[in-house]
Amino acid sequence: MVKVQNKVNTVIFHPDHKSHIVLDKEACAKCEDKPCLRMCPSQMFTLSGDGKEVIYSHEGCFECGTCYVICSHLSWNYPKGGKGVIFREV
Ligand code: SF4
Ligand code: SF4
Repeated sequence: MVKVQNKVNTVIFHPDHKSHIVLDKEACAKCEDKPCLRMCPSQMFTLSGDGKEVIYSHEGCFECGTCYVICSHLSWNYPKGGKGVIFREV
């Protein structure tokens, strides 16, 4: 049986210093459902300690585009210059 951990180990991240996804903080503050918290397969979206702010971290992004599809308020681009995720064949 193929384990998820084995699959995850086939992924390498070369994150850029600058995030390729930028949130609209005002829109996030007004967003009641916050689907990004549930839909991102890499769980890059989290809530701040006080639960008031959505925080995004780009370092482990799979570039799947799910957040781009579910949210019209964020700015989404592929990482530049060969940065980002690399999927290895096993
Ligand atoms: S779904 Fe979009 S607007 Fe709503 S909290 Fe997430 S990033 Fe912000
Ligand atoms: S592109 Fe996919 S992995 Fe990256 S932040 Fe959006 S939903 Fe998460």
